[in-house]
Parts: sequence; C-alpha cells; structure tokens
Amino acid sequence: MNYIEKRKTLVKSLIERNILTNKNVIRAMLKVPREDFLSEDAQSSAYIDSPISIGSDQTISAPHMNAMMCEILNIEKDDKILEIGTGSGYHAALCAELISIENKESKGHVYTIERHKELAKKAKENLKKTGYENRVTVIIGDGTLGYPEKAPYDKILVTAASPEKIPTPLKTQLQMGGILCIPAGTKNYIQKLYKIQKLECEFRVKAITSVRFVPLIGKYGFSNDDE
Ligand code: SAM
Repeated sequence: MNYIEKRKTLVKSLIERNILTNKNVIRAMLKVPREDFLSEDAQSSAYIDSPISIGSDQTISAPHMNAMMCEILNIEKDDKILEIGTGSGYHAALCAELISIENKESKGHVYTIERHKELAKKAKENLKKTGYENRVTVIIGDGTLGYPEKAPYDKILVTAASPEKIPTPLKTQLQMGGILCIPAGTKNYIQKLYKIQKLECEFRVKAITSVRFVPLIGKYGFSNDDE
C-alpha cells in the first residue's frame, strides 16, 4: 500500500475543501503517518476522511477534524500544549510536529491525558514507533482536571465533547492569551466546536461549527453512568 501517495491525496482534498490553509499544518499532516496509529486491520482505511475505531469503544477523529483543530489553535514553535483525550496518539503527534517545525531544538512539549489505560499504553507505543516520544508525555487520568503540574499552557486541545459548562481547571490552566479548542454540547452528539481565547478581562468565545465527538467523561465532564 502506498501510504505516502494516499496521504498526499487526502491533504490535497482538505486543501481544496478549504479546511487546510496553514502551511505548517499542511506540512505536519503530510509528515505524520496516520496508518501507524491504527491497528493492522484498519490501516488500509487510514486516509479515508472518517473516524476509525481504536478499541475501548473510542475512535481516532476524522482527519478534517484534526486539521481544523490544529488550525484553530494556531500552534507555534515552542508552544506548551495540553491535549485531553490521547486516543491513538495521532493528534498529539501532529501537535509535536507543529511545535518543532524547522526547529529540532524546540522548547515546546505536548502533555496528553487519556482515561483508558489500554489506549494510553498503545498510544505510547505508537508515539515511540513514529519517533515522537521525546516531545510527547502521555498521562493516564481524568483530563477534566487538566494537568496542573505543568500549567500554564499556551494551547489546550480537547478531543472529546464537554458539557456546555467548560471544565474550570482547563480555563484556569490556560496561559493569558492562550487558546482552548473544545467541542461542547450534549452527550448524544449535539455539539459545537469552540475556540476560546483567554484575555485580560474575559474569555473570548467563538463557535466554529457543529461536530460529533465521543463524550468527555470525568469530574468536570459527563458521568460514565451509561458506559
Ligand atoms: N485525539 C485522539 C487521537 O488522535 O486518536 C482521538 C480522541 S477520541 C475522539 C476521544 C478520547 O478522549 C478517547 O480516547 C476517550 O477515552 C478520551 N477521554 C474521554 N474523557 C476523558 C477524560 N476525562 N480524560 C482523558 N481522556 C478522556
């Protein structure tokens, strides 16, 4: 299977659909091998623009969603990033690529939290296999609490849907001027993707588009009653 050609074709279609516009995000999407974050039987679908099952009842997001979220975050070299919802580790790898584009000595780092132990373990393996393990730290836990140990963060990315009330720890742990990208709404998939920027006197909130994400489960998220 020629994955490089398939990756190029997918990126070209995301550019044509105006989803991908930032040259660094384009470069990162061309570089990170999505197939290496999937189980062997799912690899042939790696470059279909669709979510794919990764086990534990969870999915890797569709590539257009990865692209859109990276563009919203406007990731810059040396950014310290917190991701909630490691899943396969693919989006964390994209972020790691973006903080070190043209800058192998990047001071940036990606901290990513996953509540499912088995997914976190697999994501670590995927990140090692693809060479991102030094730029990404995988943490097992409830990401709705954030990760105060390394706060504040320049960018926070949440890849599961929060209730309308955004988890307070995430807003607190965001750097002044920083950006939080988060889907929020109901557990049954009526959700919007938000860009939230922390300013001196307010949080500037912009709704971007309707989305469908698996729920964010945790103290400041949804309960796991019906899991
Ligand atoms: N970013 C992932 C990737 O690139 O594969 C896809 C993430 S998947 C759509 C959402 C993930 O969020 C799931 O793996 C789920 O277990 C995780 N999740 C849900 N609630 C969480 C929480 N409170 N803390 C950490 N992870 C959580």
